[in-house]
Amino acid sequence: MRYFSTRNKAEGVSFARAALTGLAPDGGLFVPEVIPPYPEPVKSSLGTMDFHDIALETIKPYVQGEIPHPVLEDLVLAAYPFTAPLIPVGDRLVLELFHGPTAAFKDFGARFMARAFAYLRRGEEKPLHILVATSGDTGGAVAAGFYGVEGINVTVLYPQGRVSPLQERQIAGLEGNIKALAVEGSFDDCQRLVKTAFSDENLQKRKALSSANSINIARLIPQSIYYAAAAGKAFAGKTDPPLQESSPWAACGAGVQEKPIPVPGQAITFCVPSGNFGNLTAGMYAMKMGAPIRGFIAATNVNKTIPDYLLSGLYEPRSSQATISNAMDVGAPSNFERMTAQWSLEELRRVLQGVWVHDEATRKIIREVHKTQGYFLDPHTGVAWQGCNQLRRSCSLGVPVGVLATAHPAKFAEIVEPLTGQVPVPPSLKQLREPVAQIIPADISALLEVL
Ligand SMILES: *Cc1c(COP(=O)(O)O)cnc(C)c1O
Repeated sequence: MRYFSTRNKAEGVSFARAALTGLAPDGGLFVPEVIPPYPEPVKSSLGTMDFHDIALETIKPYVQGEIPHPVLEDLVLAAYPFTAPLIPVGDRLVLELFHGPTAAFKDFGARFMARAFAYLRRGEEKPLHILVATSGDTGGAVAAGFYGVEGINVTVLYPQGRVSPLQERQIAGLEGNIKALAVEGSFDDCQRLVKTAFSDENLQKRKALSSANSINIARLIPQSIYYAAAAGKAFAGKTDPPLQESSPWAACGAGVQEKPIPVPGQAITFCVPSGNFGNLTAGMYAMKMGAPIRGFIAATNVNKTIPDYLLSGLYEPRSSQATISNAMDVGAPSNFERMTAQWSLEELRRVLQGVWVHDEATRKIIREVHKTQGYFLDPHTGVAWQGCNQLRRSCSLGVPVGVLATAHPAKFAEIVEPLTGQVPVPPSLKQLREPVAQIIPADISALLEVL
């Protein structure tokens, strides 16, 4: 498979090149030259296939000729010791994506990317050094994703005192090949330091540097897996049993099923809580590959650049506003460029409906779903659930509706618990160790010295 920059369709590169460089040299994002359809036998058995087999079939065509089949098999087994259950709650299906080590869906992308990097750089003498600045969430997923992966070292910069205690333990509780630097400054300072380090010629000579940016194609592709698996299941009329609190994965309330859903033979509509729109783009890839998906609802908080775009046809990026679903506080979604490079506005409108939700409505729905269904929503999942409700009033949605649960509510206990009472804490979050970070001033010489 060749990959092209969204800004230059003339010159293709390999998967390895696209993955290891992240951003194209012209500033564009890498997109595959085609979105490969599932072979017919795969397409018709998505509902009964094992998660790892779906992972394999989904990723295979994108890395053909670069990652051999047996290696890819080992890779997906190592990346995904957890799955993505589809749980009936009320008249919805919830796709729980928070059973990985950081209790958020970014584990699916980060864990594959880390292992793919390690394989693609096999035999290289210098270890790869990943430098990443985080305002909180990405750092945890990247650190956990690369933790223990041979041949790769990671340095995460975060603003000291400006991430939550839980986030700090996720970023700085790992050690080993992960180094955490608490910067005496803001997130912008952290980003500036990373950028300056990347342009330091001396450092470039000494080290093989890379970023693990969220726009990396190697993070995007594996996010299609759970869409295909869930759509296949729903089409076959199946769901998963809710996880019990005693299970090794976190239960999040059992939910009450109102009627037997889904009815077999119906394609699902996914409601996706969105920020940078990587998750939603991956869903559109899964649909294009042939997974039985009817369409998508793009749900945002007040940072509603894309819902506005779908209505008006005008793309107007803006600066972001802070909300309780802070992983979606994005005013200029980076994957917009990828979506519009692959689909016209008309095509997008055919499969995508936009909706946006106020914090107050999000709080209200978290309270209500817990009260009526016994199920805990995190603020991001709350946006998606409420977004569905708002659309249901103005237009009919396809049945069944799948809501993507992108984080475990215990990660946002300070917001959720005042609305619901105590949230069960998943083992992955209980086991986090105390943070061990080196504190550095917001100064490039301090960073270079550490590196
Ligand atoms: C990152 C994140 C999102 C947004 O995903 P995008 O791919 O950026 O649209 C939603 N929810 C949670 C919990 C996240 O961490």
